[in-house]
Amino acid sequence: MTDLEVDLLVVGSGAGGLTAALVAADAGLSALVVEKTQWLGGTTAYSAGTAWIPGHRRLPEAPADAVAARRYLDELVGDRAPAQLREAYLAHGPAAIDHLERLGLSFRHSASVVDYHPEIDGWGTGRALEPEPFDGRLLGAERFRRVRRPIPEFALFGGALMLRRAEADQLLTLFRGSPRAAALALRLGARWAADRLRYPRGTRLTMGNGLVAALFHQLVRRSGEVRFGARAVALITEGGRVVGAVVDDGGRAVRIGARRGVVLAGGGFAASPSLRAEFLPRPTPDFTPAAGGATGDSLALARSVGGAVAAPQEDNTMWFPSSVGRRRDGSVAVFPHIWDRAKPGIIAVDAAGRRFIDESVSYHRFVRAMYATSTVPAWLVLDARTLTRYGLGLIRPHLPAPLRRHHLRSGYLVTGATVRELALAIGVDAGGLERTVAAANDAARRGVDDEFGKGGSPYGRQYGDPDHGPDPNLGPIEKAPFYAVEVVPTPLATTLGLRINGAGQVLGVSGEPLPGLYACGNDAQSAMASEYPGAGCQIGAALTFGYLAARHAGASA
Ligand SMILES: Cc1cc2nc3c(=O)[nH]c(=O)nc-3n(C[C@H](O)[C@H](O)[C@H](O)COP(=O)(O)OP(=O)(O)OC[C@H]3O[C@@H](n4cnc5c(N)ncnc54)[C@H](O)[C@@H]3O)c2cc1C
Repeated sequence: MTDLEVDLLVVGSGAGGLTAALVAADAGLSALVVEKTQWLGGTTAYSAGTAWIPGHRRLPEAPADAVAARRYLDELVGDRAPAQLREAYLAHGPAAIDHLERLGLSFRHSASVVDYHPEIDGWGTGRALEPEPFDGRLLGAERFRRVRRPIPEFALFGGALMLRRAEADQLLTLFRGSPRAAALALRLGARWAADRLRYPRGTRLTMGNGLVAALFHQLVRRSGEVRFGARAVALITEGGRVVGAVVDDGGRAVRIGARRGVVLAGGGFAASPSLRAEFLPRPTPDFTPAAGGATGDSLALARSVGGAVAAPQEDNTMWFPSSVGRRRDGSVAVFPHIWDRAKPGIIAVDAAGRRFIDESVSYHRFVRAMYATSTVPAWLVLDARTLTRYGLGLIRPHLPAPLRRHHLRSGYLVTGATVRELALAIGVDAGGLERTVAAANDAARRGVDDEFGKGGSPYGRQYGDPDHGPDPNLGPIEKAPFYAVEVVPTPLATTLGLRINGAGQVLGVSGEPLPGLYACGNDAQSAMASEYPGAGCQIGAALTFGYLAARHAGASA
């Protein structure tokens, strides 16, 4: 006996779950998403919303790009994840995007974004797609309120005004008197001021917020539904098939039948301290920038009906190096250092005061180097001029000195009048740091980093400062006072998930599909093992396998 019957029941309202529900609803199925929190979007809502889709149709040589991407992934991932999964990703990713665009979503080509391993044959530029800003007013006030607010540091006014990343970069040129930046500031400010008369925050939603809001809008237009505060707590089976789930709906156990199947899209387990301790390397990360709902519920749900979890890898996650501070309201901010490390005049050092990596590599590679060299935590070190110009972590560029005091007092930002004083303040070997800074200054003058090659890779160069010479990634550390911020490993998305096949069906221990059960997003094992090929590979996979799961479920009678 069930309390409610739908065609497709989806657990989780992130990129994967909403895509599955939307594709199903568009095919005429009744689709219900249960979301255990009060907010739409999970970690996707916090994210940049970028999707890595090799061979997408905006690339000038799309078929050749897909072939190159296959070579790239074969080399990077090898046999650590089933080749069948990356084949499905490459074969259907572009079609998934085209399908979503036909259903009303819009993406913009991030044409200059470079893959994360330009040393491997088949790497590419421009495989990333970014969601176009979405007008939150289309949702209506009540649904708009449900969209999870972004990470405050990734927006202005404490999260109230969202920007595209390119817009944030452009606004910074205001400090150099750019009229285009002034015009943009006026346009965004006027829209935001008008919004604030009627809404609690700006309604122009960008990045991951824009993506989940657009998926939600198109879903409800097709009579799909998201039920908030509803947590899937058990799966219902009948004759070996998953036919629904028991949902804790605000304290009431509701049995929901699912004629075509259940899609698990709960976002993995980055927010579960116990699963982090079990599957992530030591020292175990204490923090994550992922949303709190990612506690691995689905792994337990699937296991209870015979579903298998993939074989653990070395790290089982994708990494951000993050600094951890307190906001003025007392909440904890976990700030991912995605791009700033590449700027000239910033180095990363260990306890001996030595550098350990080209600071401009991808965030995932940076944290792997931290673990490989036993550098947990690491310190990002810079001088007064660089801090003002580029900012660092919670310290925004050109932040007036009085506004930095909060971060100095809390210990988030540490300062010293000399490099030696700074070293003593952060507990790093002072002679070591002095020698490292002297060598970095010499490299900056010559424009060549002999030791780690910062500035030598197309990936790192894209996030340097093109107006800085002789090398866009190398700058001196010489203008007192000196500063440092501590960074620690934080999982942004877990990669260890349920075994699936190329249609998104969950597999049992002997490799057979479990009828009626699907997984996508971080609940599914990553097609990349725990490698990070390029910007957007998790949302790219979530959209692709959400789409594939819905199509497979729709085709099953
Ligand atoms: C700051 C940041 C930036 C990022 N930027 C990018 C990017 O640009 N591109 C990219 O590819 N990746 C990015 N990532 C990673 C990416 O956001 C995630 O990997 C991806 O969004 C996960 O999508 P998902 O659909 O699997 O889960 P989520 O978006 O996390 O959604 C899962 C939802 O399921 C709900 N849920 C869990 N269990 C249950 C249950 N039992 N019942 C009901 N509901 C449940 C959760 O509450 C949550 O709302 C970023 C991550 C961070 C932290």
